[in-house]
Amino acid sequence: MANHFLPNPKRQPLFIERGEGAYIFDSDGRRYMDLVTGLGVNALGHQHPRITAVIAQHAGLIHTSGLYGHCYAEPLAERLCQMSRLDRALFTNSGTEATELALKLIRCYGTSIRASKTHIVALQNSFHGRTRGALSVAGQPQLREPFQPFAQAVTFVDANDDAGLRAAVSSETAAILFEPILGEGGVVPLTTSFLQLARELTHQHDALLVADECQTGLGRTGRHFSFQHSGIQPDVVTVAKPLAGGLPLGAVMFSDAVNRTFPPSAHATTFGGGPLACRVALEFLDVMEALLPNVREIGGLLENGLREIAAQHSIVTQVRGQGLLLAMQLAVPGDSMVADARDRGLLINCTQSTVLRFLPPFVLTDAQVQTALTILEAVVSSGTSK
Ligand code: PLP
Repeated sequence: MANHFLPNPKRQPLFIERGEGAYIFDSDGRRYMDLVTGLGVNALGHQHPRITAVIAQHAGLIHTSGLYGHCYAEPLAERLCQMSRLDRALFTNSGTEATELALKLIRCYGTSIRASKTHIVALQNSFHGRTRGALSVAGQPQLREPFQPFAQAVTFVDANDDAGLRAAVSSETAAILFEPILGEGGVVPLTTSFLQLARELTHQHDALLVADECQTGLGRTGRHFSFQHSGIQPDVVTVAKPLAGGLPLGAVMFSDAVNRTFPPSAHATTFGGGPLACRVALEFLDVMEALLPNVREIGGLLENGLREIAAQHSIVTQVRGQGLLLAMQLAVPGDSMVADARDRGLLINCTQSTVLRFLPPFVLTDAQVQTALTILEAVVSSGTSK
């Protein structure tokens, strides 16, 4: 086969042909339970009947551009604002672009107070996307280094390091940016006390609290947003991944106070927030809402099962996460376990080289959890004996 397409990131040896519910099928017709869901995008599983029906019904108007209105943008913006308790929403095409927009909001808010108030505090091991703006706030040196220097001044603080956070924030801080659970960084939940301190410090220094909920938001942890577990209210929230049922769509919600400092038309996009994507997103939100109890219940079941595996195998040193964003920390690299699981018909993913991450669909059943746990037990046993 010709070699023009550059797979990026490194691909697994699997050609996906179709998906159905919690399963995908490869080009040989082999079935795999999908606990990766396209990195958290296919949160309703594959071919959810309400998503496929709404795509078919609304295929007559796919795109309008931002120049013209359509009837789904305002209802979607209203819904996202109600859910996040914020006032305004703008649409993007991806999580990375949502981060870029958040950086613009931070810049405008900070400099509206003082020209030098541009500094951002972000977290070690964080991930917010791959453009240079998003990389400037990524706490992963290997991602940043090829593209340095960056124009943005950023201080990186360890997750849950209260003293480090206190020391990093000053009157020059324009924002603290965080993922409530560091996803790509290895599924590391931030503690309630750390998040509350971040809120306190940002209030104290008139800075913004910005939650990147691209991986954790929209039901993944059993609530609309992960920050809601800790009772804090951010000023800016970004979402993307599952929002439009697999079509590219992101959004940034922000307060009126932030909006007052943002010049009119200071952000626009040709594709972002088109009619089809917005209509599908409204459907996604309805279905997601109804599945929240299942996310909590099935998430608890999966987490308990992972803990039982960890109790029996010292190679698993910790189980972390919330709802249906869970992980097993291994004492060894996890790539061979990912391959072994795939051979046994289960798709999982490895981050930070030693963390097995699970991002199952919200429609997962008790029986499917048991099947996944049986396979994982076998995978970990065989990894232990190597
Ligand atoms: N923010 C977080 C927390 C993410 O996990 C990701 C992607 O994994 C992004 C931003 C970037 O989103 P996208 O890949 O849609 O650009």
